[in-house]
Amino acid sequence: MNRRHFLRRCGAAGTSLLATSALLSGCIPTTAKRAGVQRSYLAPDTSFTSGACGLPPVHVAAEREIRTVVGLRPYRPSGFVVRMEQLGDTRVVHNYGHGGAGITLSWGTSKLAVDLGAPGHRGPVAVLGCGAVGLANAILLQEAGYEVTIYAKALPPETTSNIAGGQWFPAYLSDPAKRTPEFNAQLLAAADYAYRRYQIMVGPRYGVRWMRNYFLNHKAFNESGYIGTQSPLRAMMPEYRDLASGEHPFAGYEHVRQLDTPIIEPPVYLAAMLDEFRIAGGKVQVRELADRAAIIALPEKLVFNCTGLGAKGLFDDAELTPVKGQLTILLPQPEVQYAVAHGDLYMFPRSDGILLGGTHEEGNWSLAPDLERKREILAEHKAFFDAFRAC
Ligand SMILES: Cc1cc2nc3c(=O)[nH]c(=O)nc-3n(C[C@H](O)[C@H](O)[C@H](O)COP(=O)(O)OP(=O)(O)OC[C@H]3O[C@@H](n4cnc5c(N)ncnc54)[C@H](O)[C@@H]3O)c2cc1C
Repeated sequence: MNRRHFLRRCGAAGTSLLATSALLSGCIPTTAKRAGVQRSYLAPDTSFTSGACGLPPVHVAAEREIRTVVGLRPYRPSGFVVRMEQLGDTRVVHNYGHGGAGITLSWGTSKLAVDLGAPGHRGPVAVLGCGAVGLANAILLQEAGYEVTIYAKALPPETTSNIAGGQWFPAYLSDPAKRTPEFNAQLLAAADYAYRRYQIMVGPRYGVRWMRNYFLNHKAFNESGYIGTQSPLRAMMPEYRDLASGEHPFAGYEHVRQLDTPIIEPPVYLAAMLDEFRIAGGKVQVRELADRAAIIALPEKLVFNCTGLGAKGLFDDAELTPVKGQLTILLPQPEVQYAVAHGDLYMFPRSDGILLGGTHEEGNWSLAPDLERKREILAEHKAFFDAFRAC
């Protein structure tokens, strides 16, 4: 079923975050039709459905910078971990290692984790971690009827999830050579659930909206990659098509592919998720768990491990490694409602600014901004947007 049929069939579904029945029945609420919702939350600007001509360029200048931030993606070459283990009388369900796709997949891997670990359990449940993954996991447990306590060393806005750009896309998730059929199946199930879940959250309350993306390349796209025509996620990419050279302003790029994705604004989204969790009776304890013994000592006998990069020390996961990412944010430009990615560079527009990336430094634990790289990224983006041509 394509997105239009899906939307048409589901015109009358409910709107509450905690009301999953609409989601499970495959339907989307009518929130977007209500008066008062800003247009940009409804869909990308369809005036450029027939091509990308007339896109407003980003004004890139050092004086427009409002901040530069760094975060460490929790990366595992073989992909995220959703599995269960027994520690004494405590059942631990792991849900970590999402690399550059933790906002994207958080709902989906959490659904897998809850389905794996919760059946048969009675009594309170603990969630370790309060980033995008821990919050989604905790809310799903509440929806399943459990009393939940989150234990976390840091809360939003002090998490890696707050640094993320928020594009819904499985970027920097794993090494293609290391993916197993089992992992691919988990990924597909997780992406499918997460994709549907974010659709019932579109609007200013959660900072979720649809966005047009342009992927640019000098050579033909890898058709078996995630944006390829044979991508297993192809059904989750509405408005997917290649643009001819007369249809876009991107000078020098022969291969231009467009598709729409949700974008999630982490500062808005994570604050709303934490509120949602607390309103539903969830408890939060700011506390670092030092080791397995500390986990076994918790009163809860079912524990979900959503500690991101923290799982490396807590569970001795040698494969888990940081991938340092740096973003420079310019003043907001509300007329810019599209994202663009070419090579390592990408631009996402958000209400709190224009995000310019990006860097991917595997094994680098430093949270210090690299000022030289920032200057280079600004210069490369400036050259790109200054070269926009009329079409
Ligand atoms: C520059 C950049 C851009 C990105 N862009 C995107 C994007 O566009 N889309 C996307 O989907 N993803 C993106 N990501 C990736 C995304 O940020 C991560 O995948 C995601 O934040 C992981 O979420 P998490 O909840 O697992 O981890 P975190 O947000 O790091 O949360 C971990 C939680 O566990 C707690 N914790 C850790 N150790 C312990 C312990 N021992 N005891 C108690 N608590 C502990 C922490 O305090 C925190 O609360 C980006 C990342 C970076 C750096």
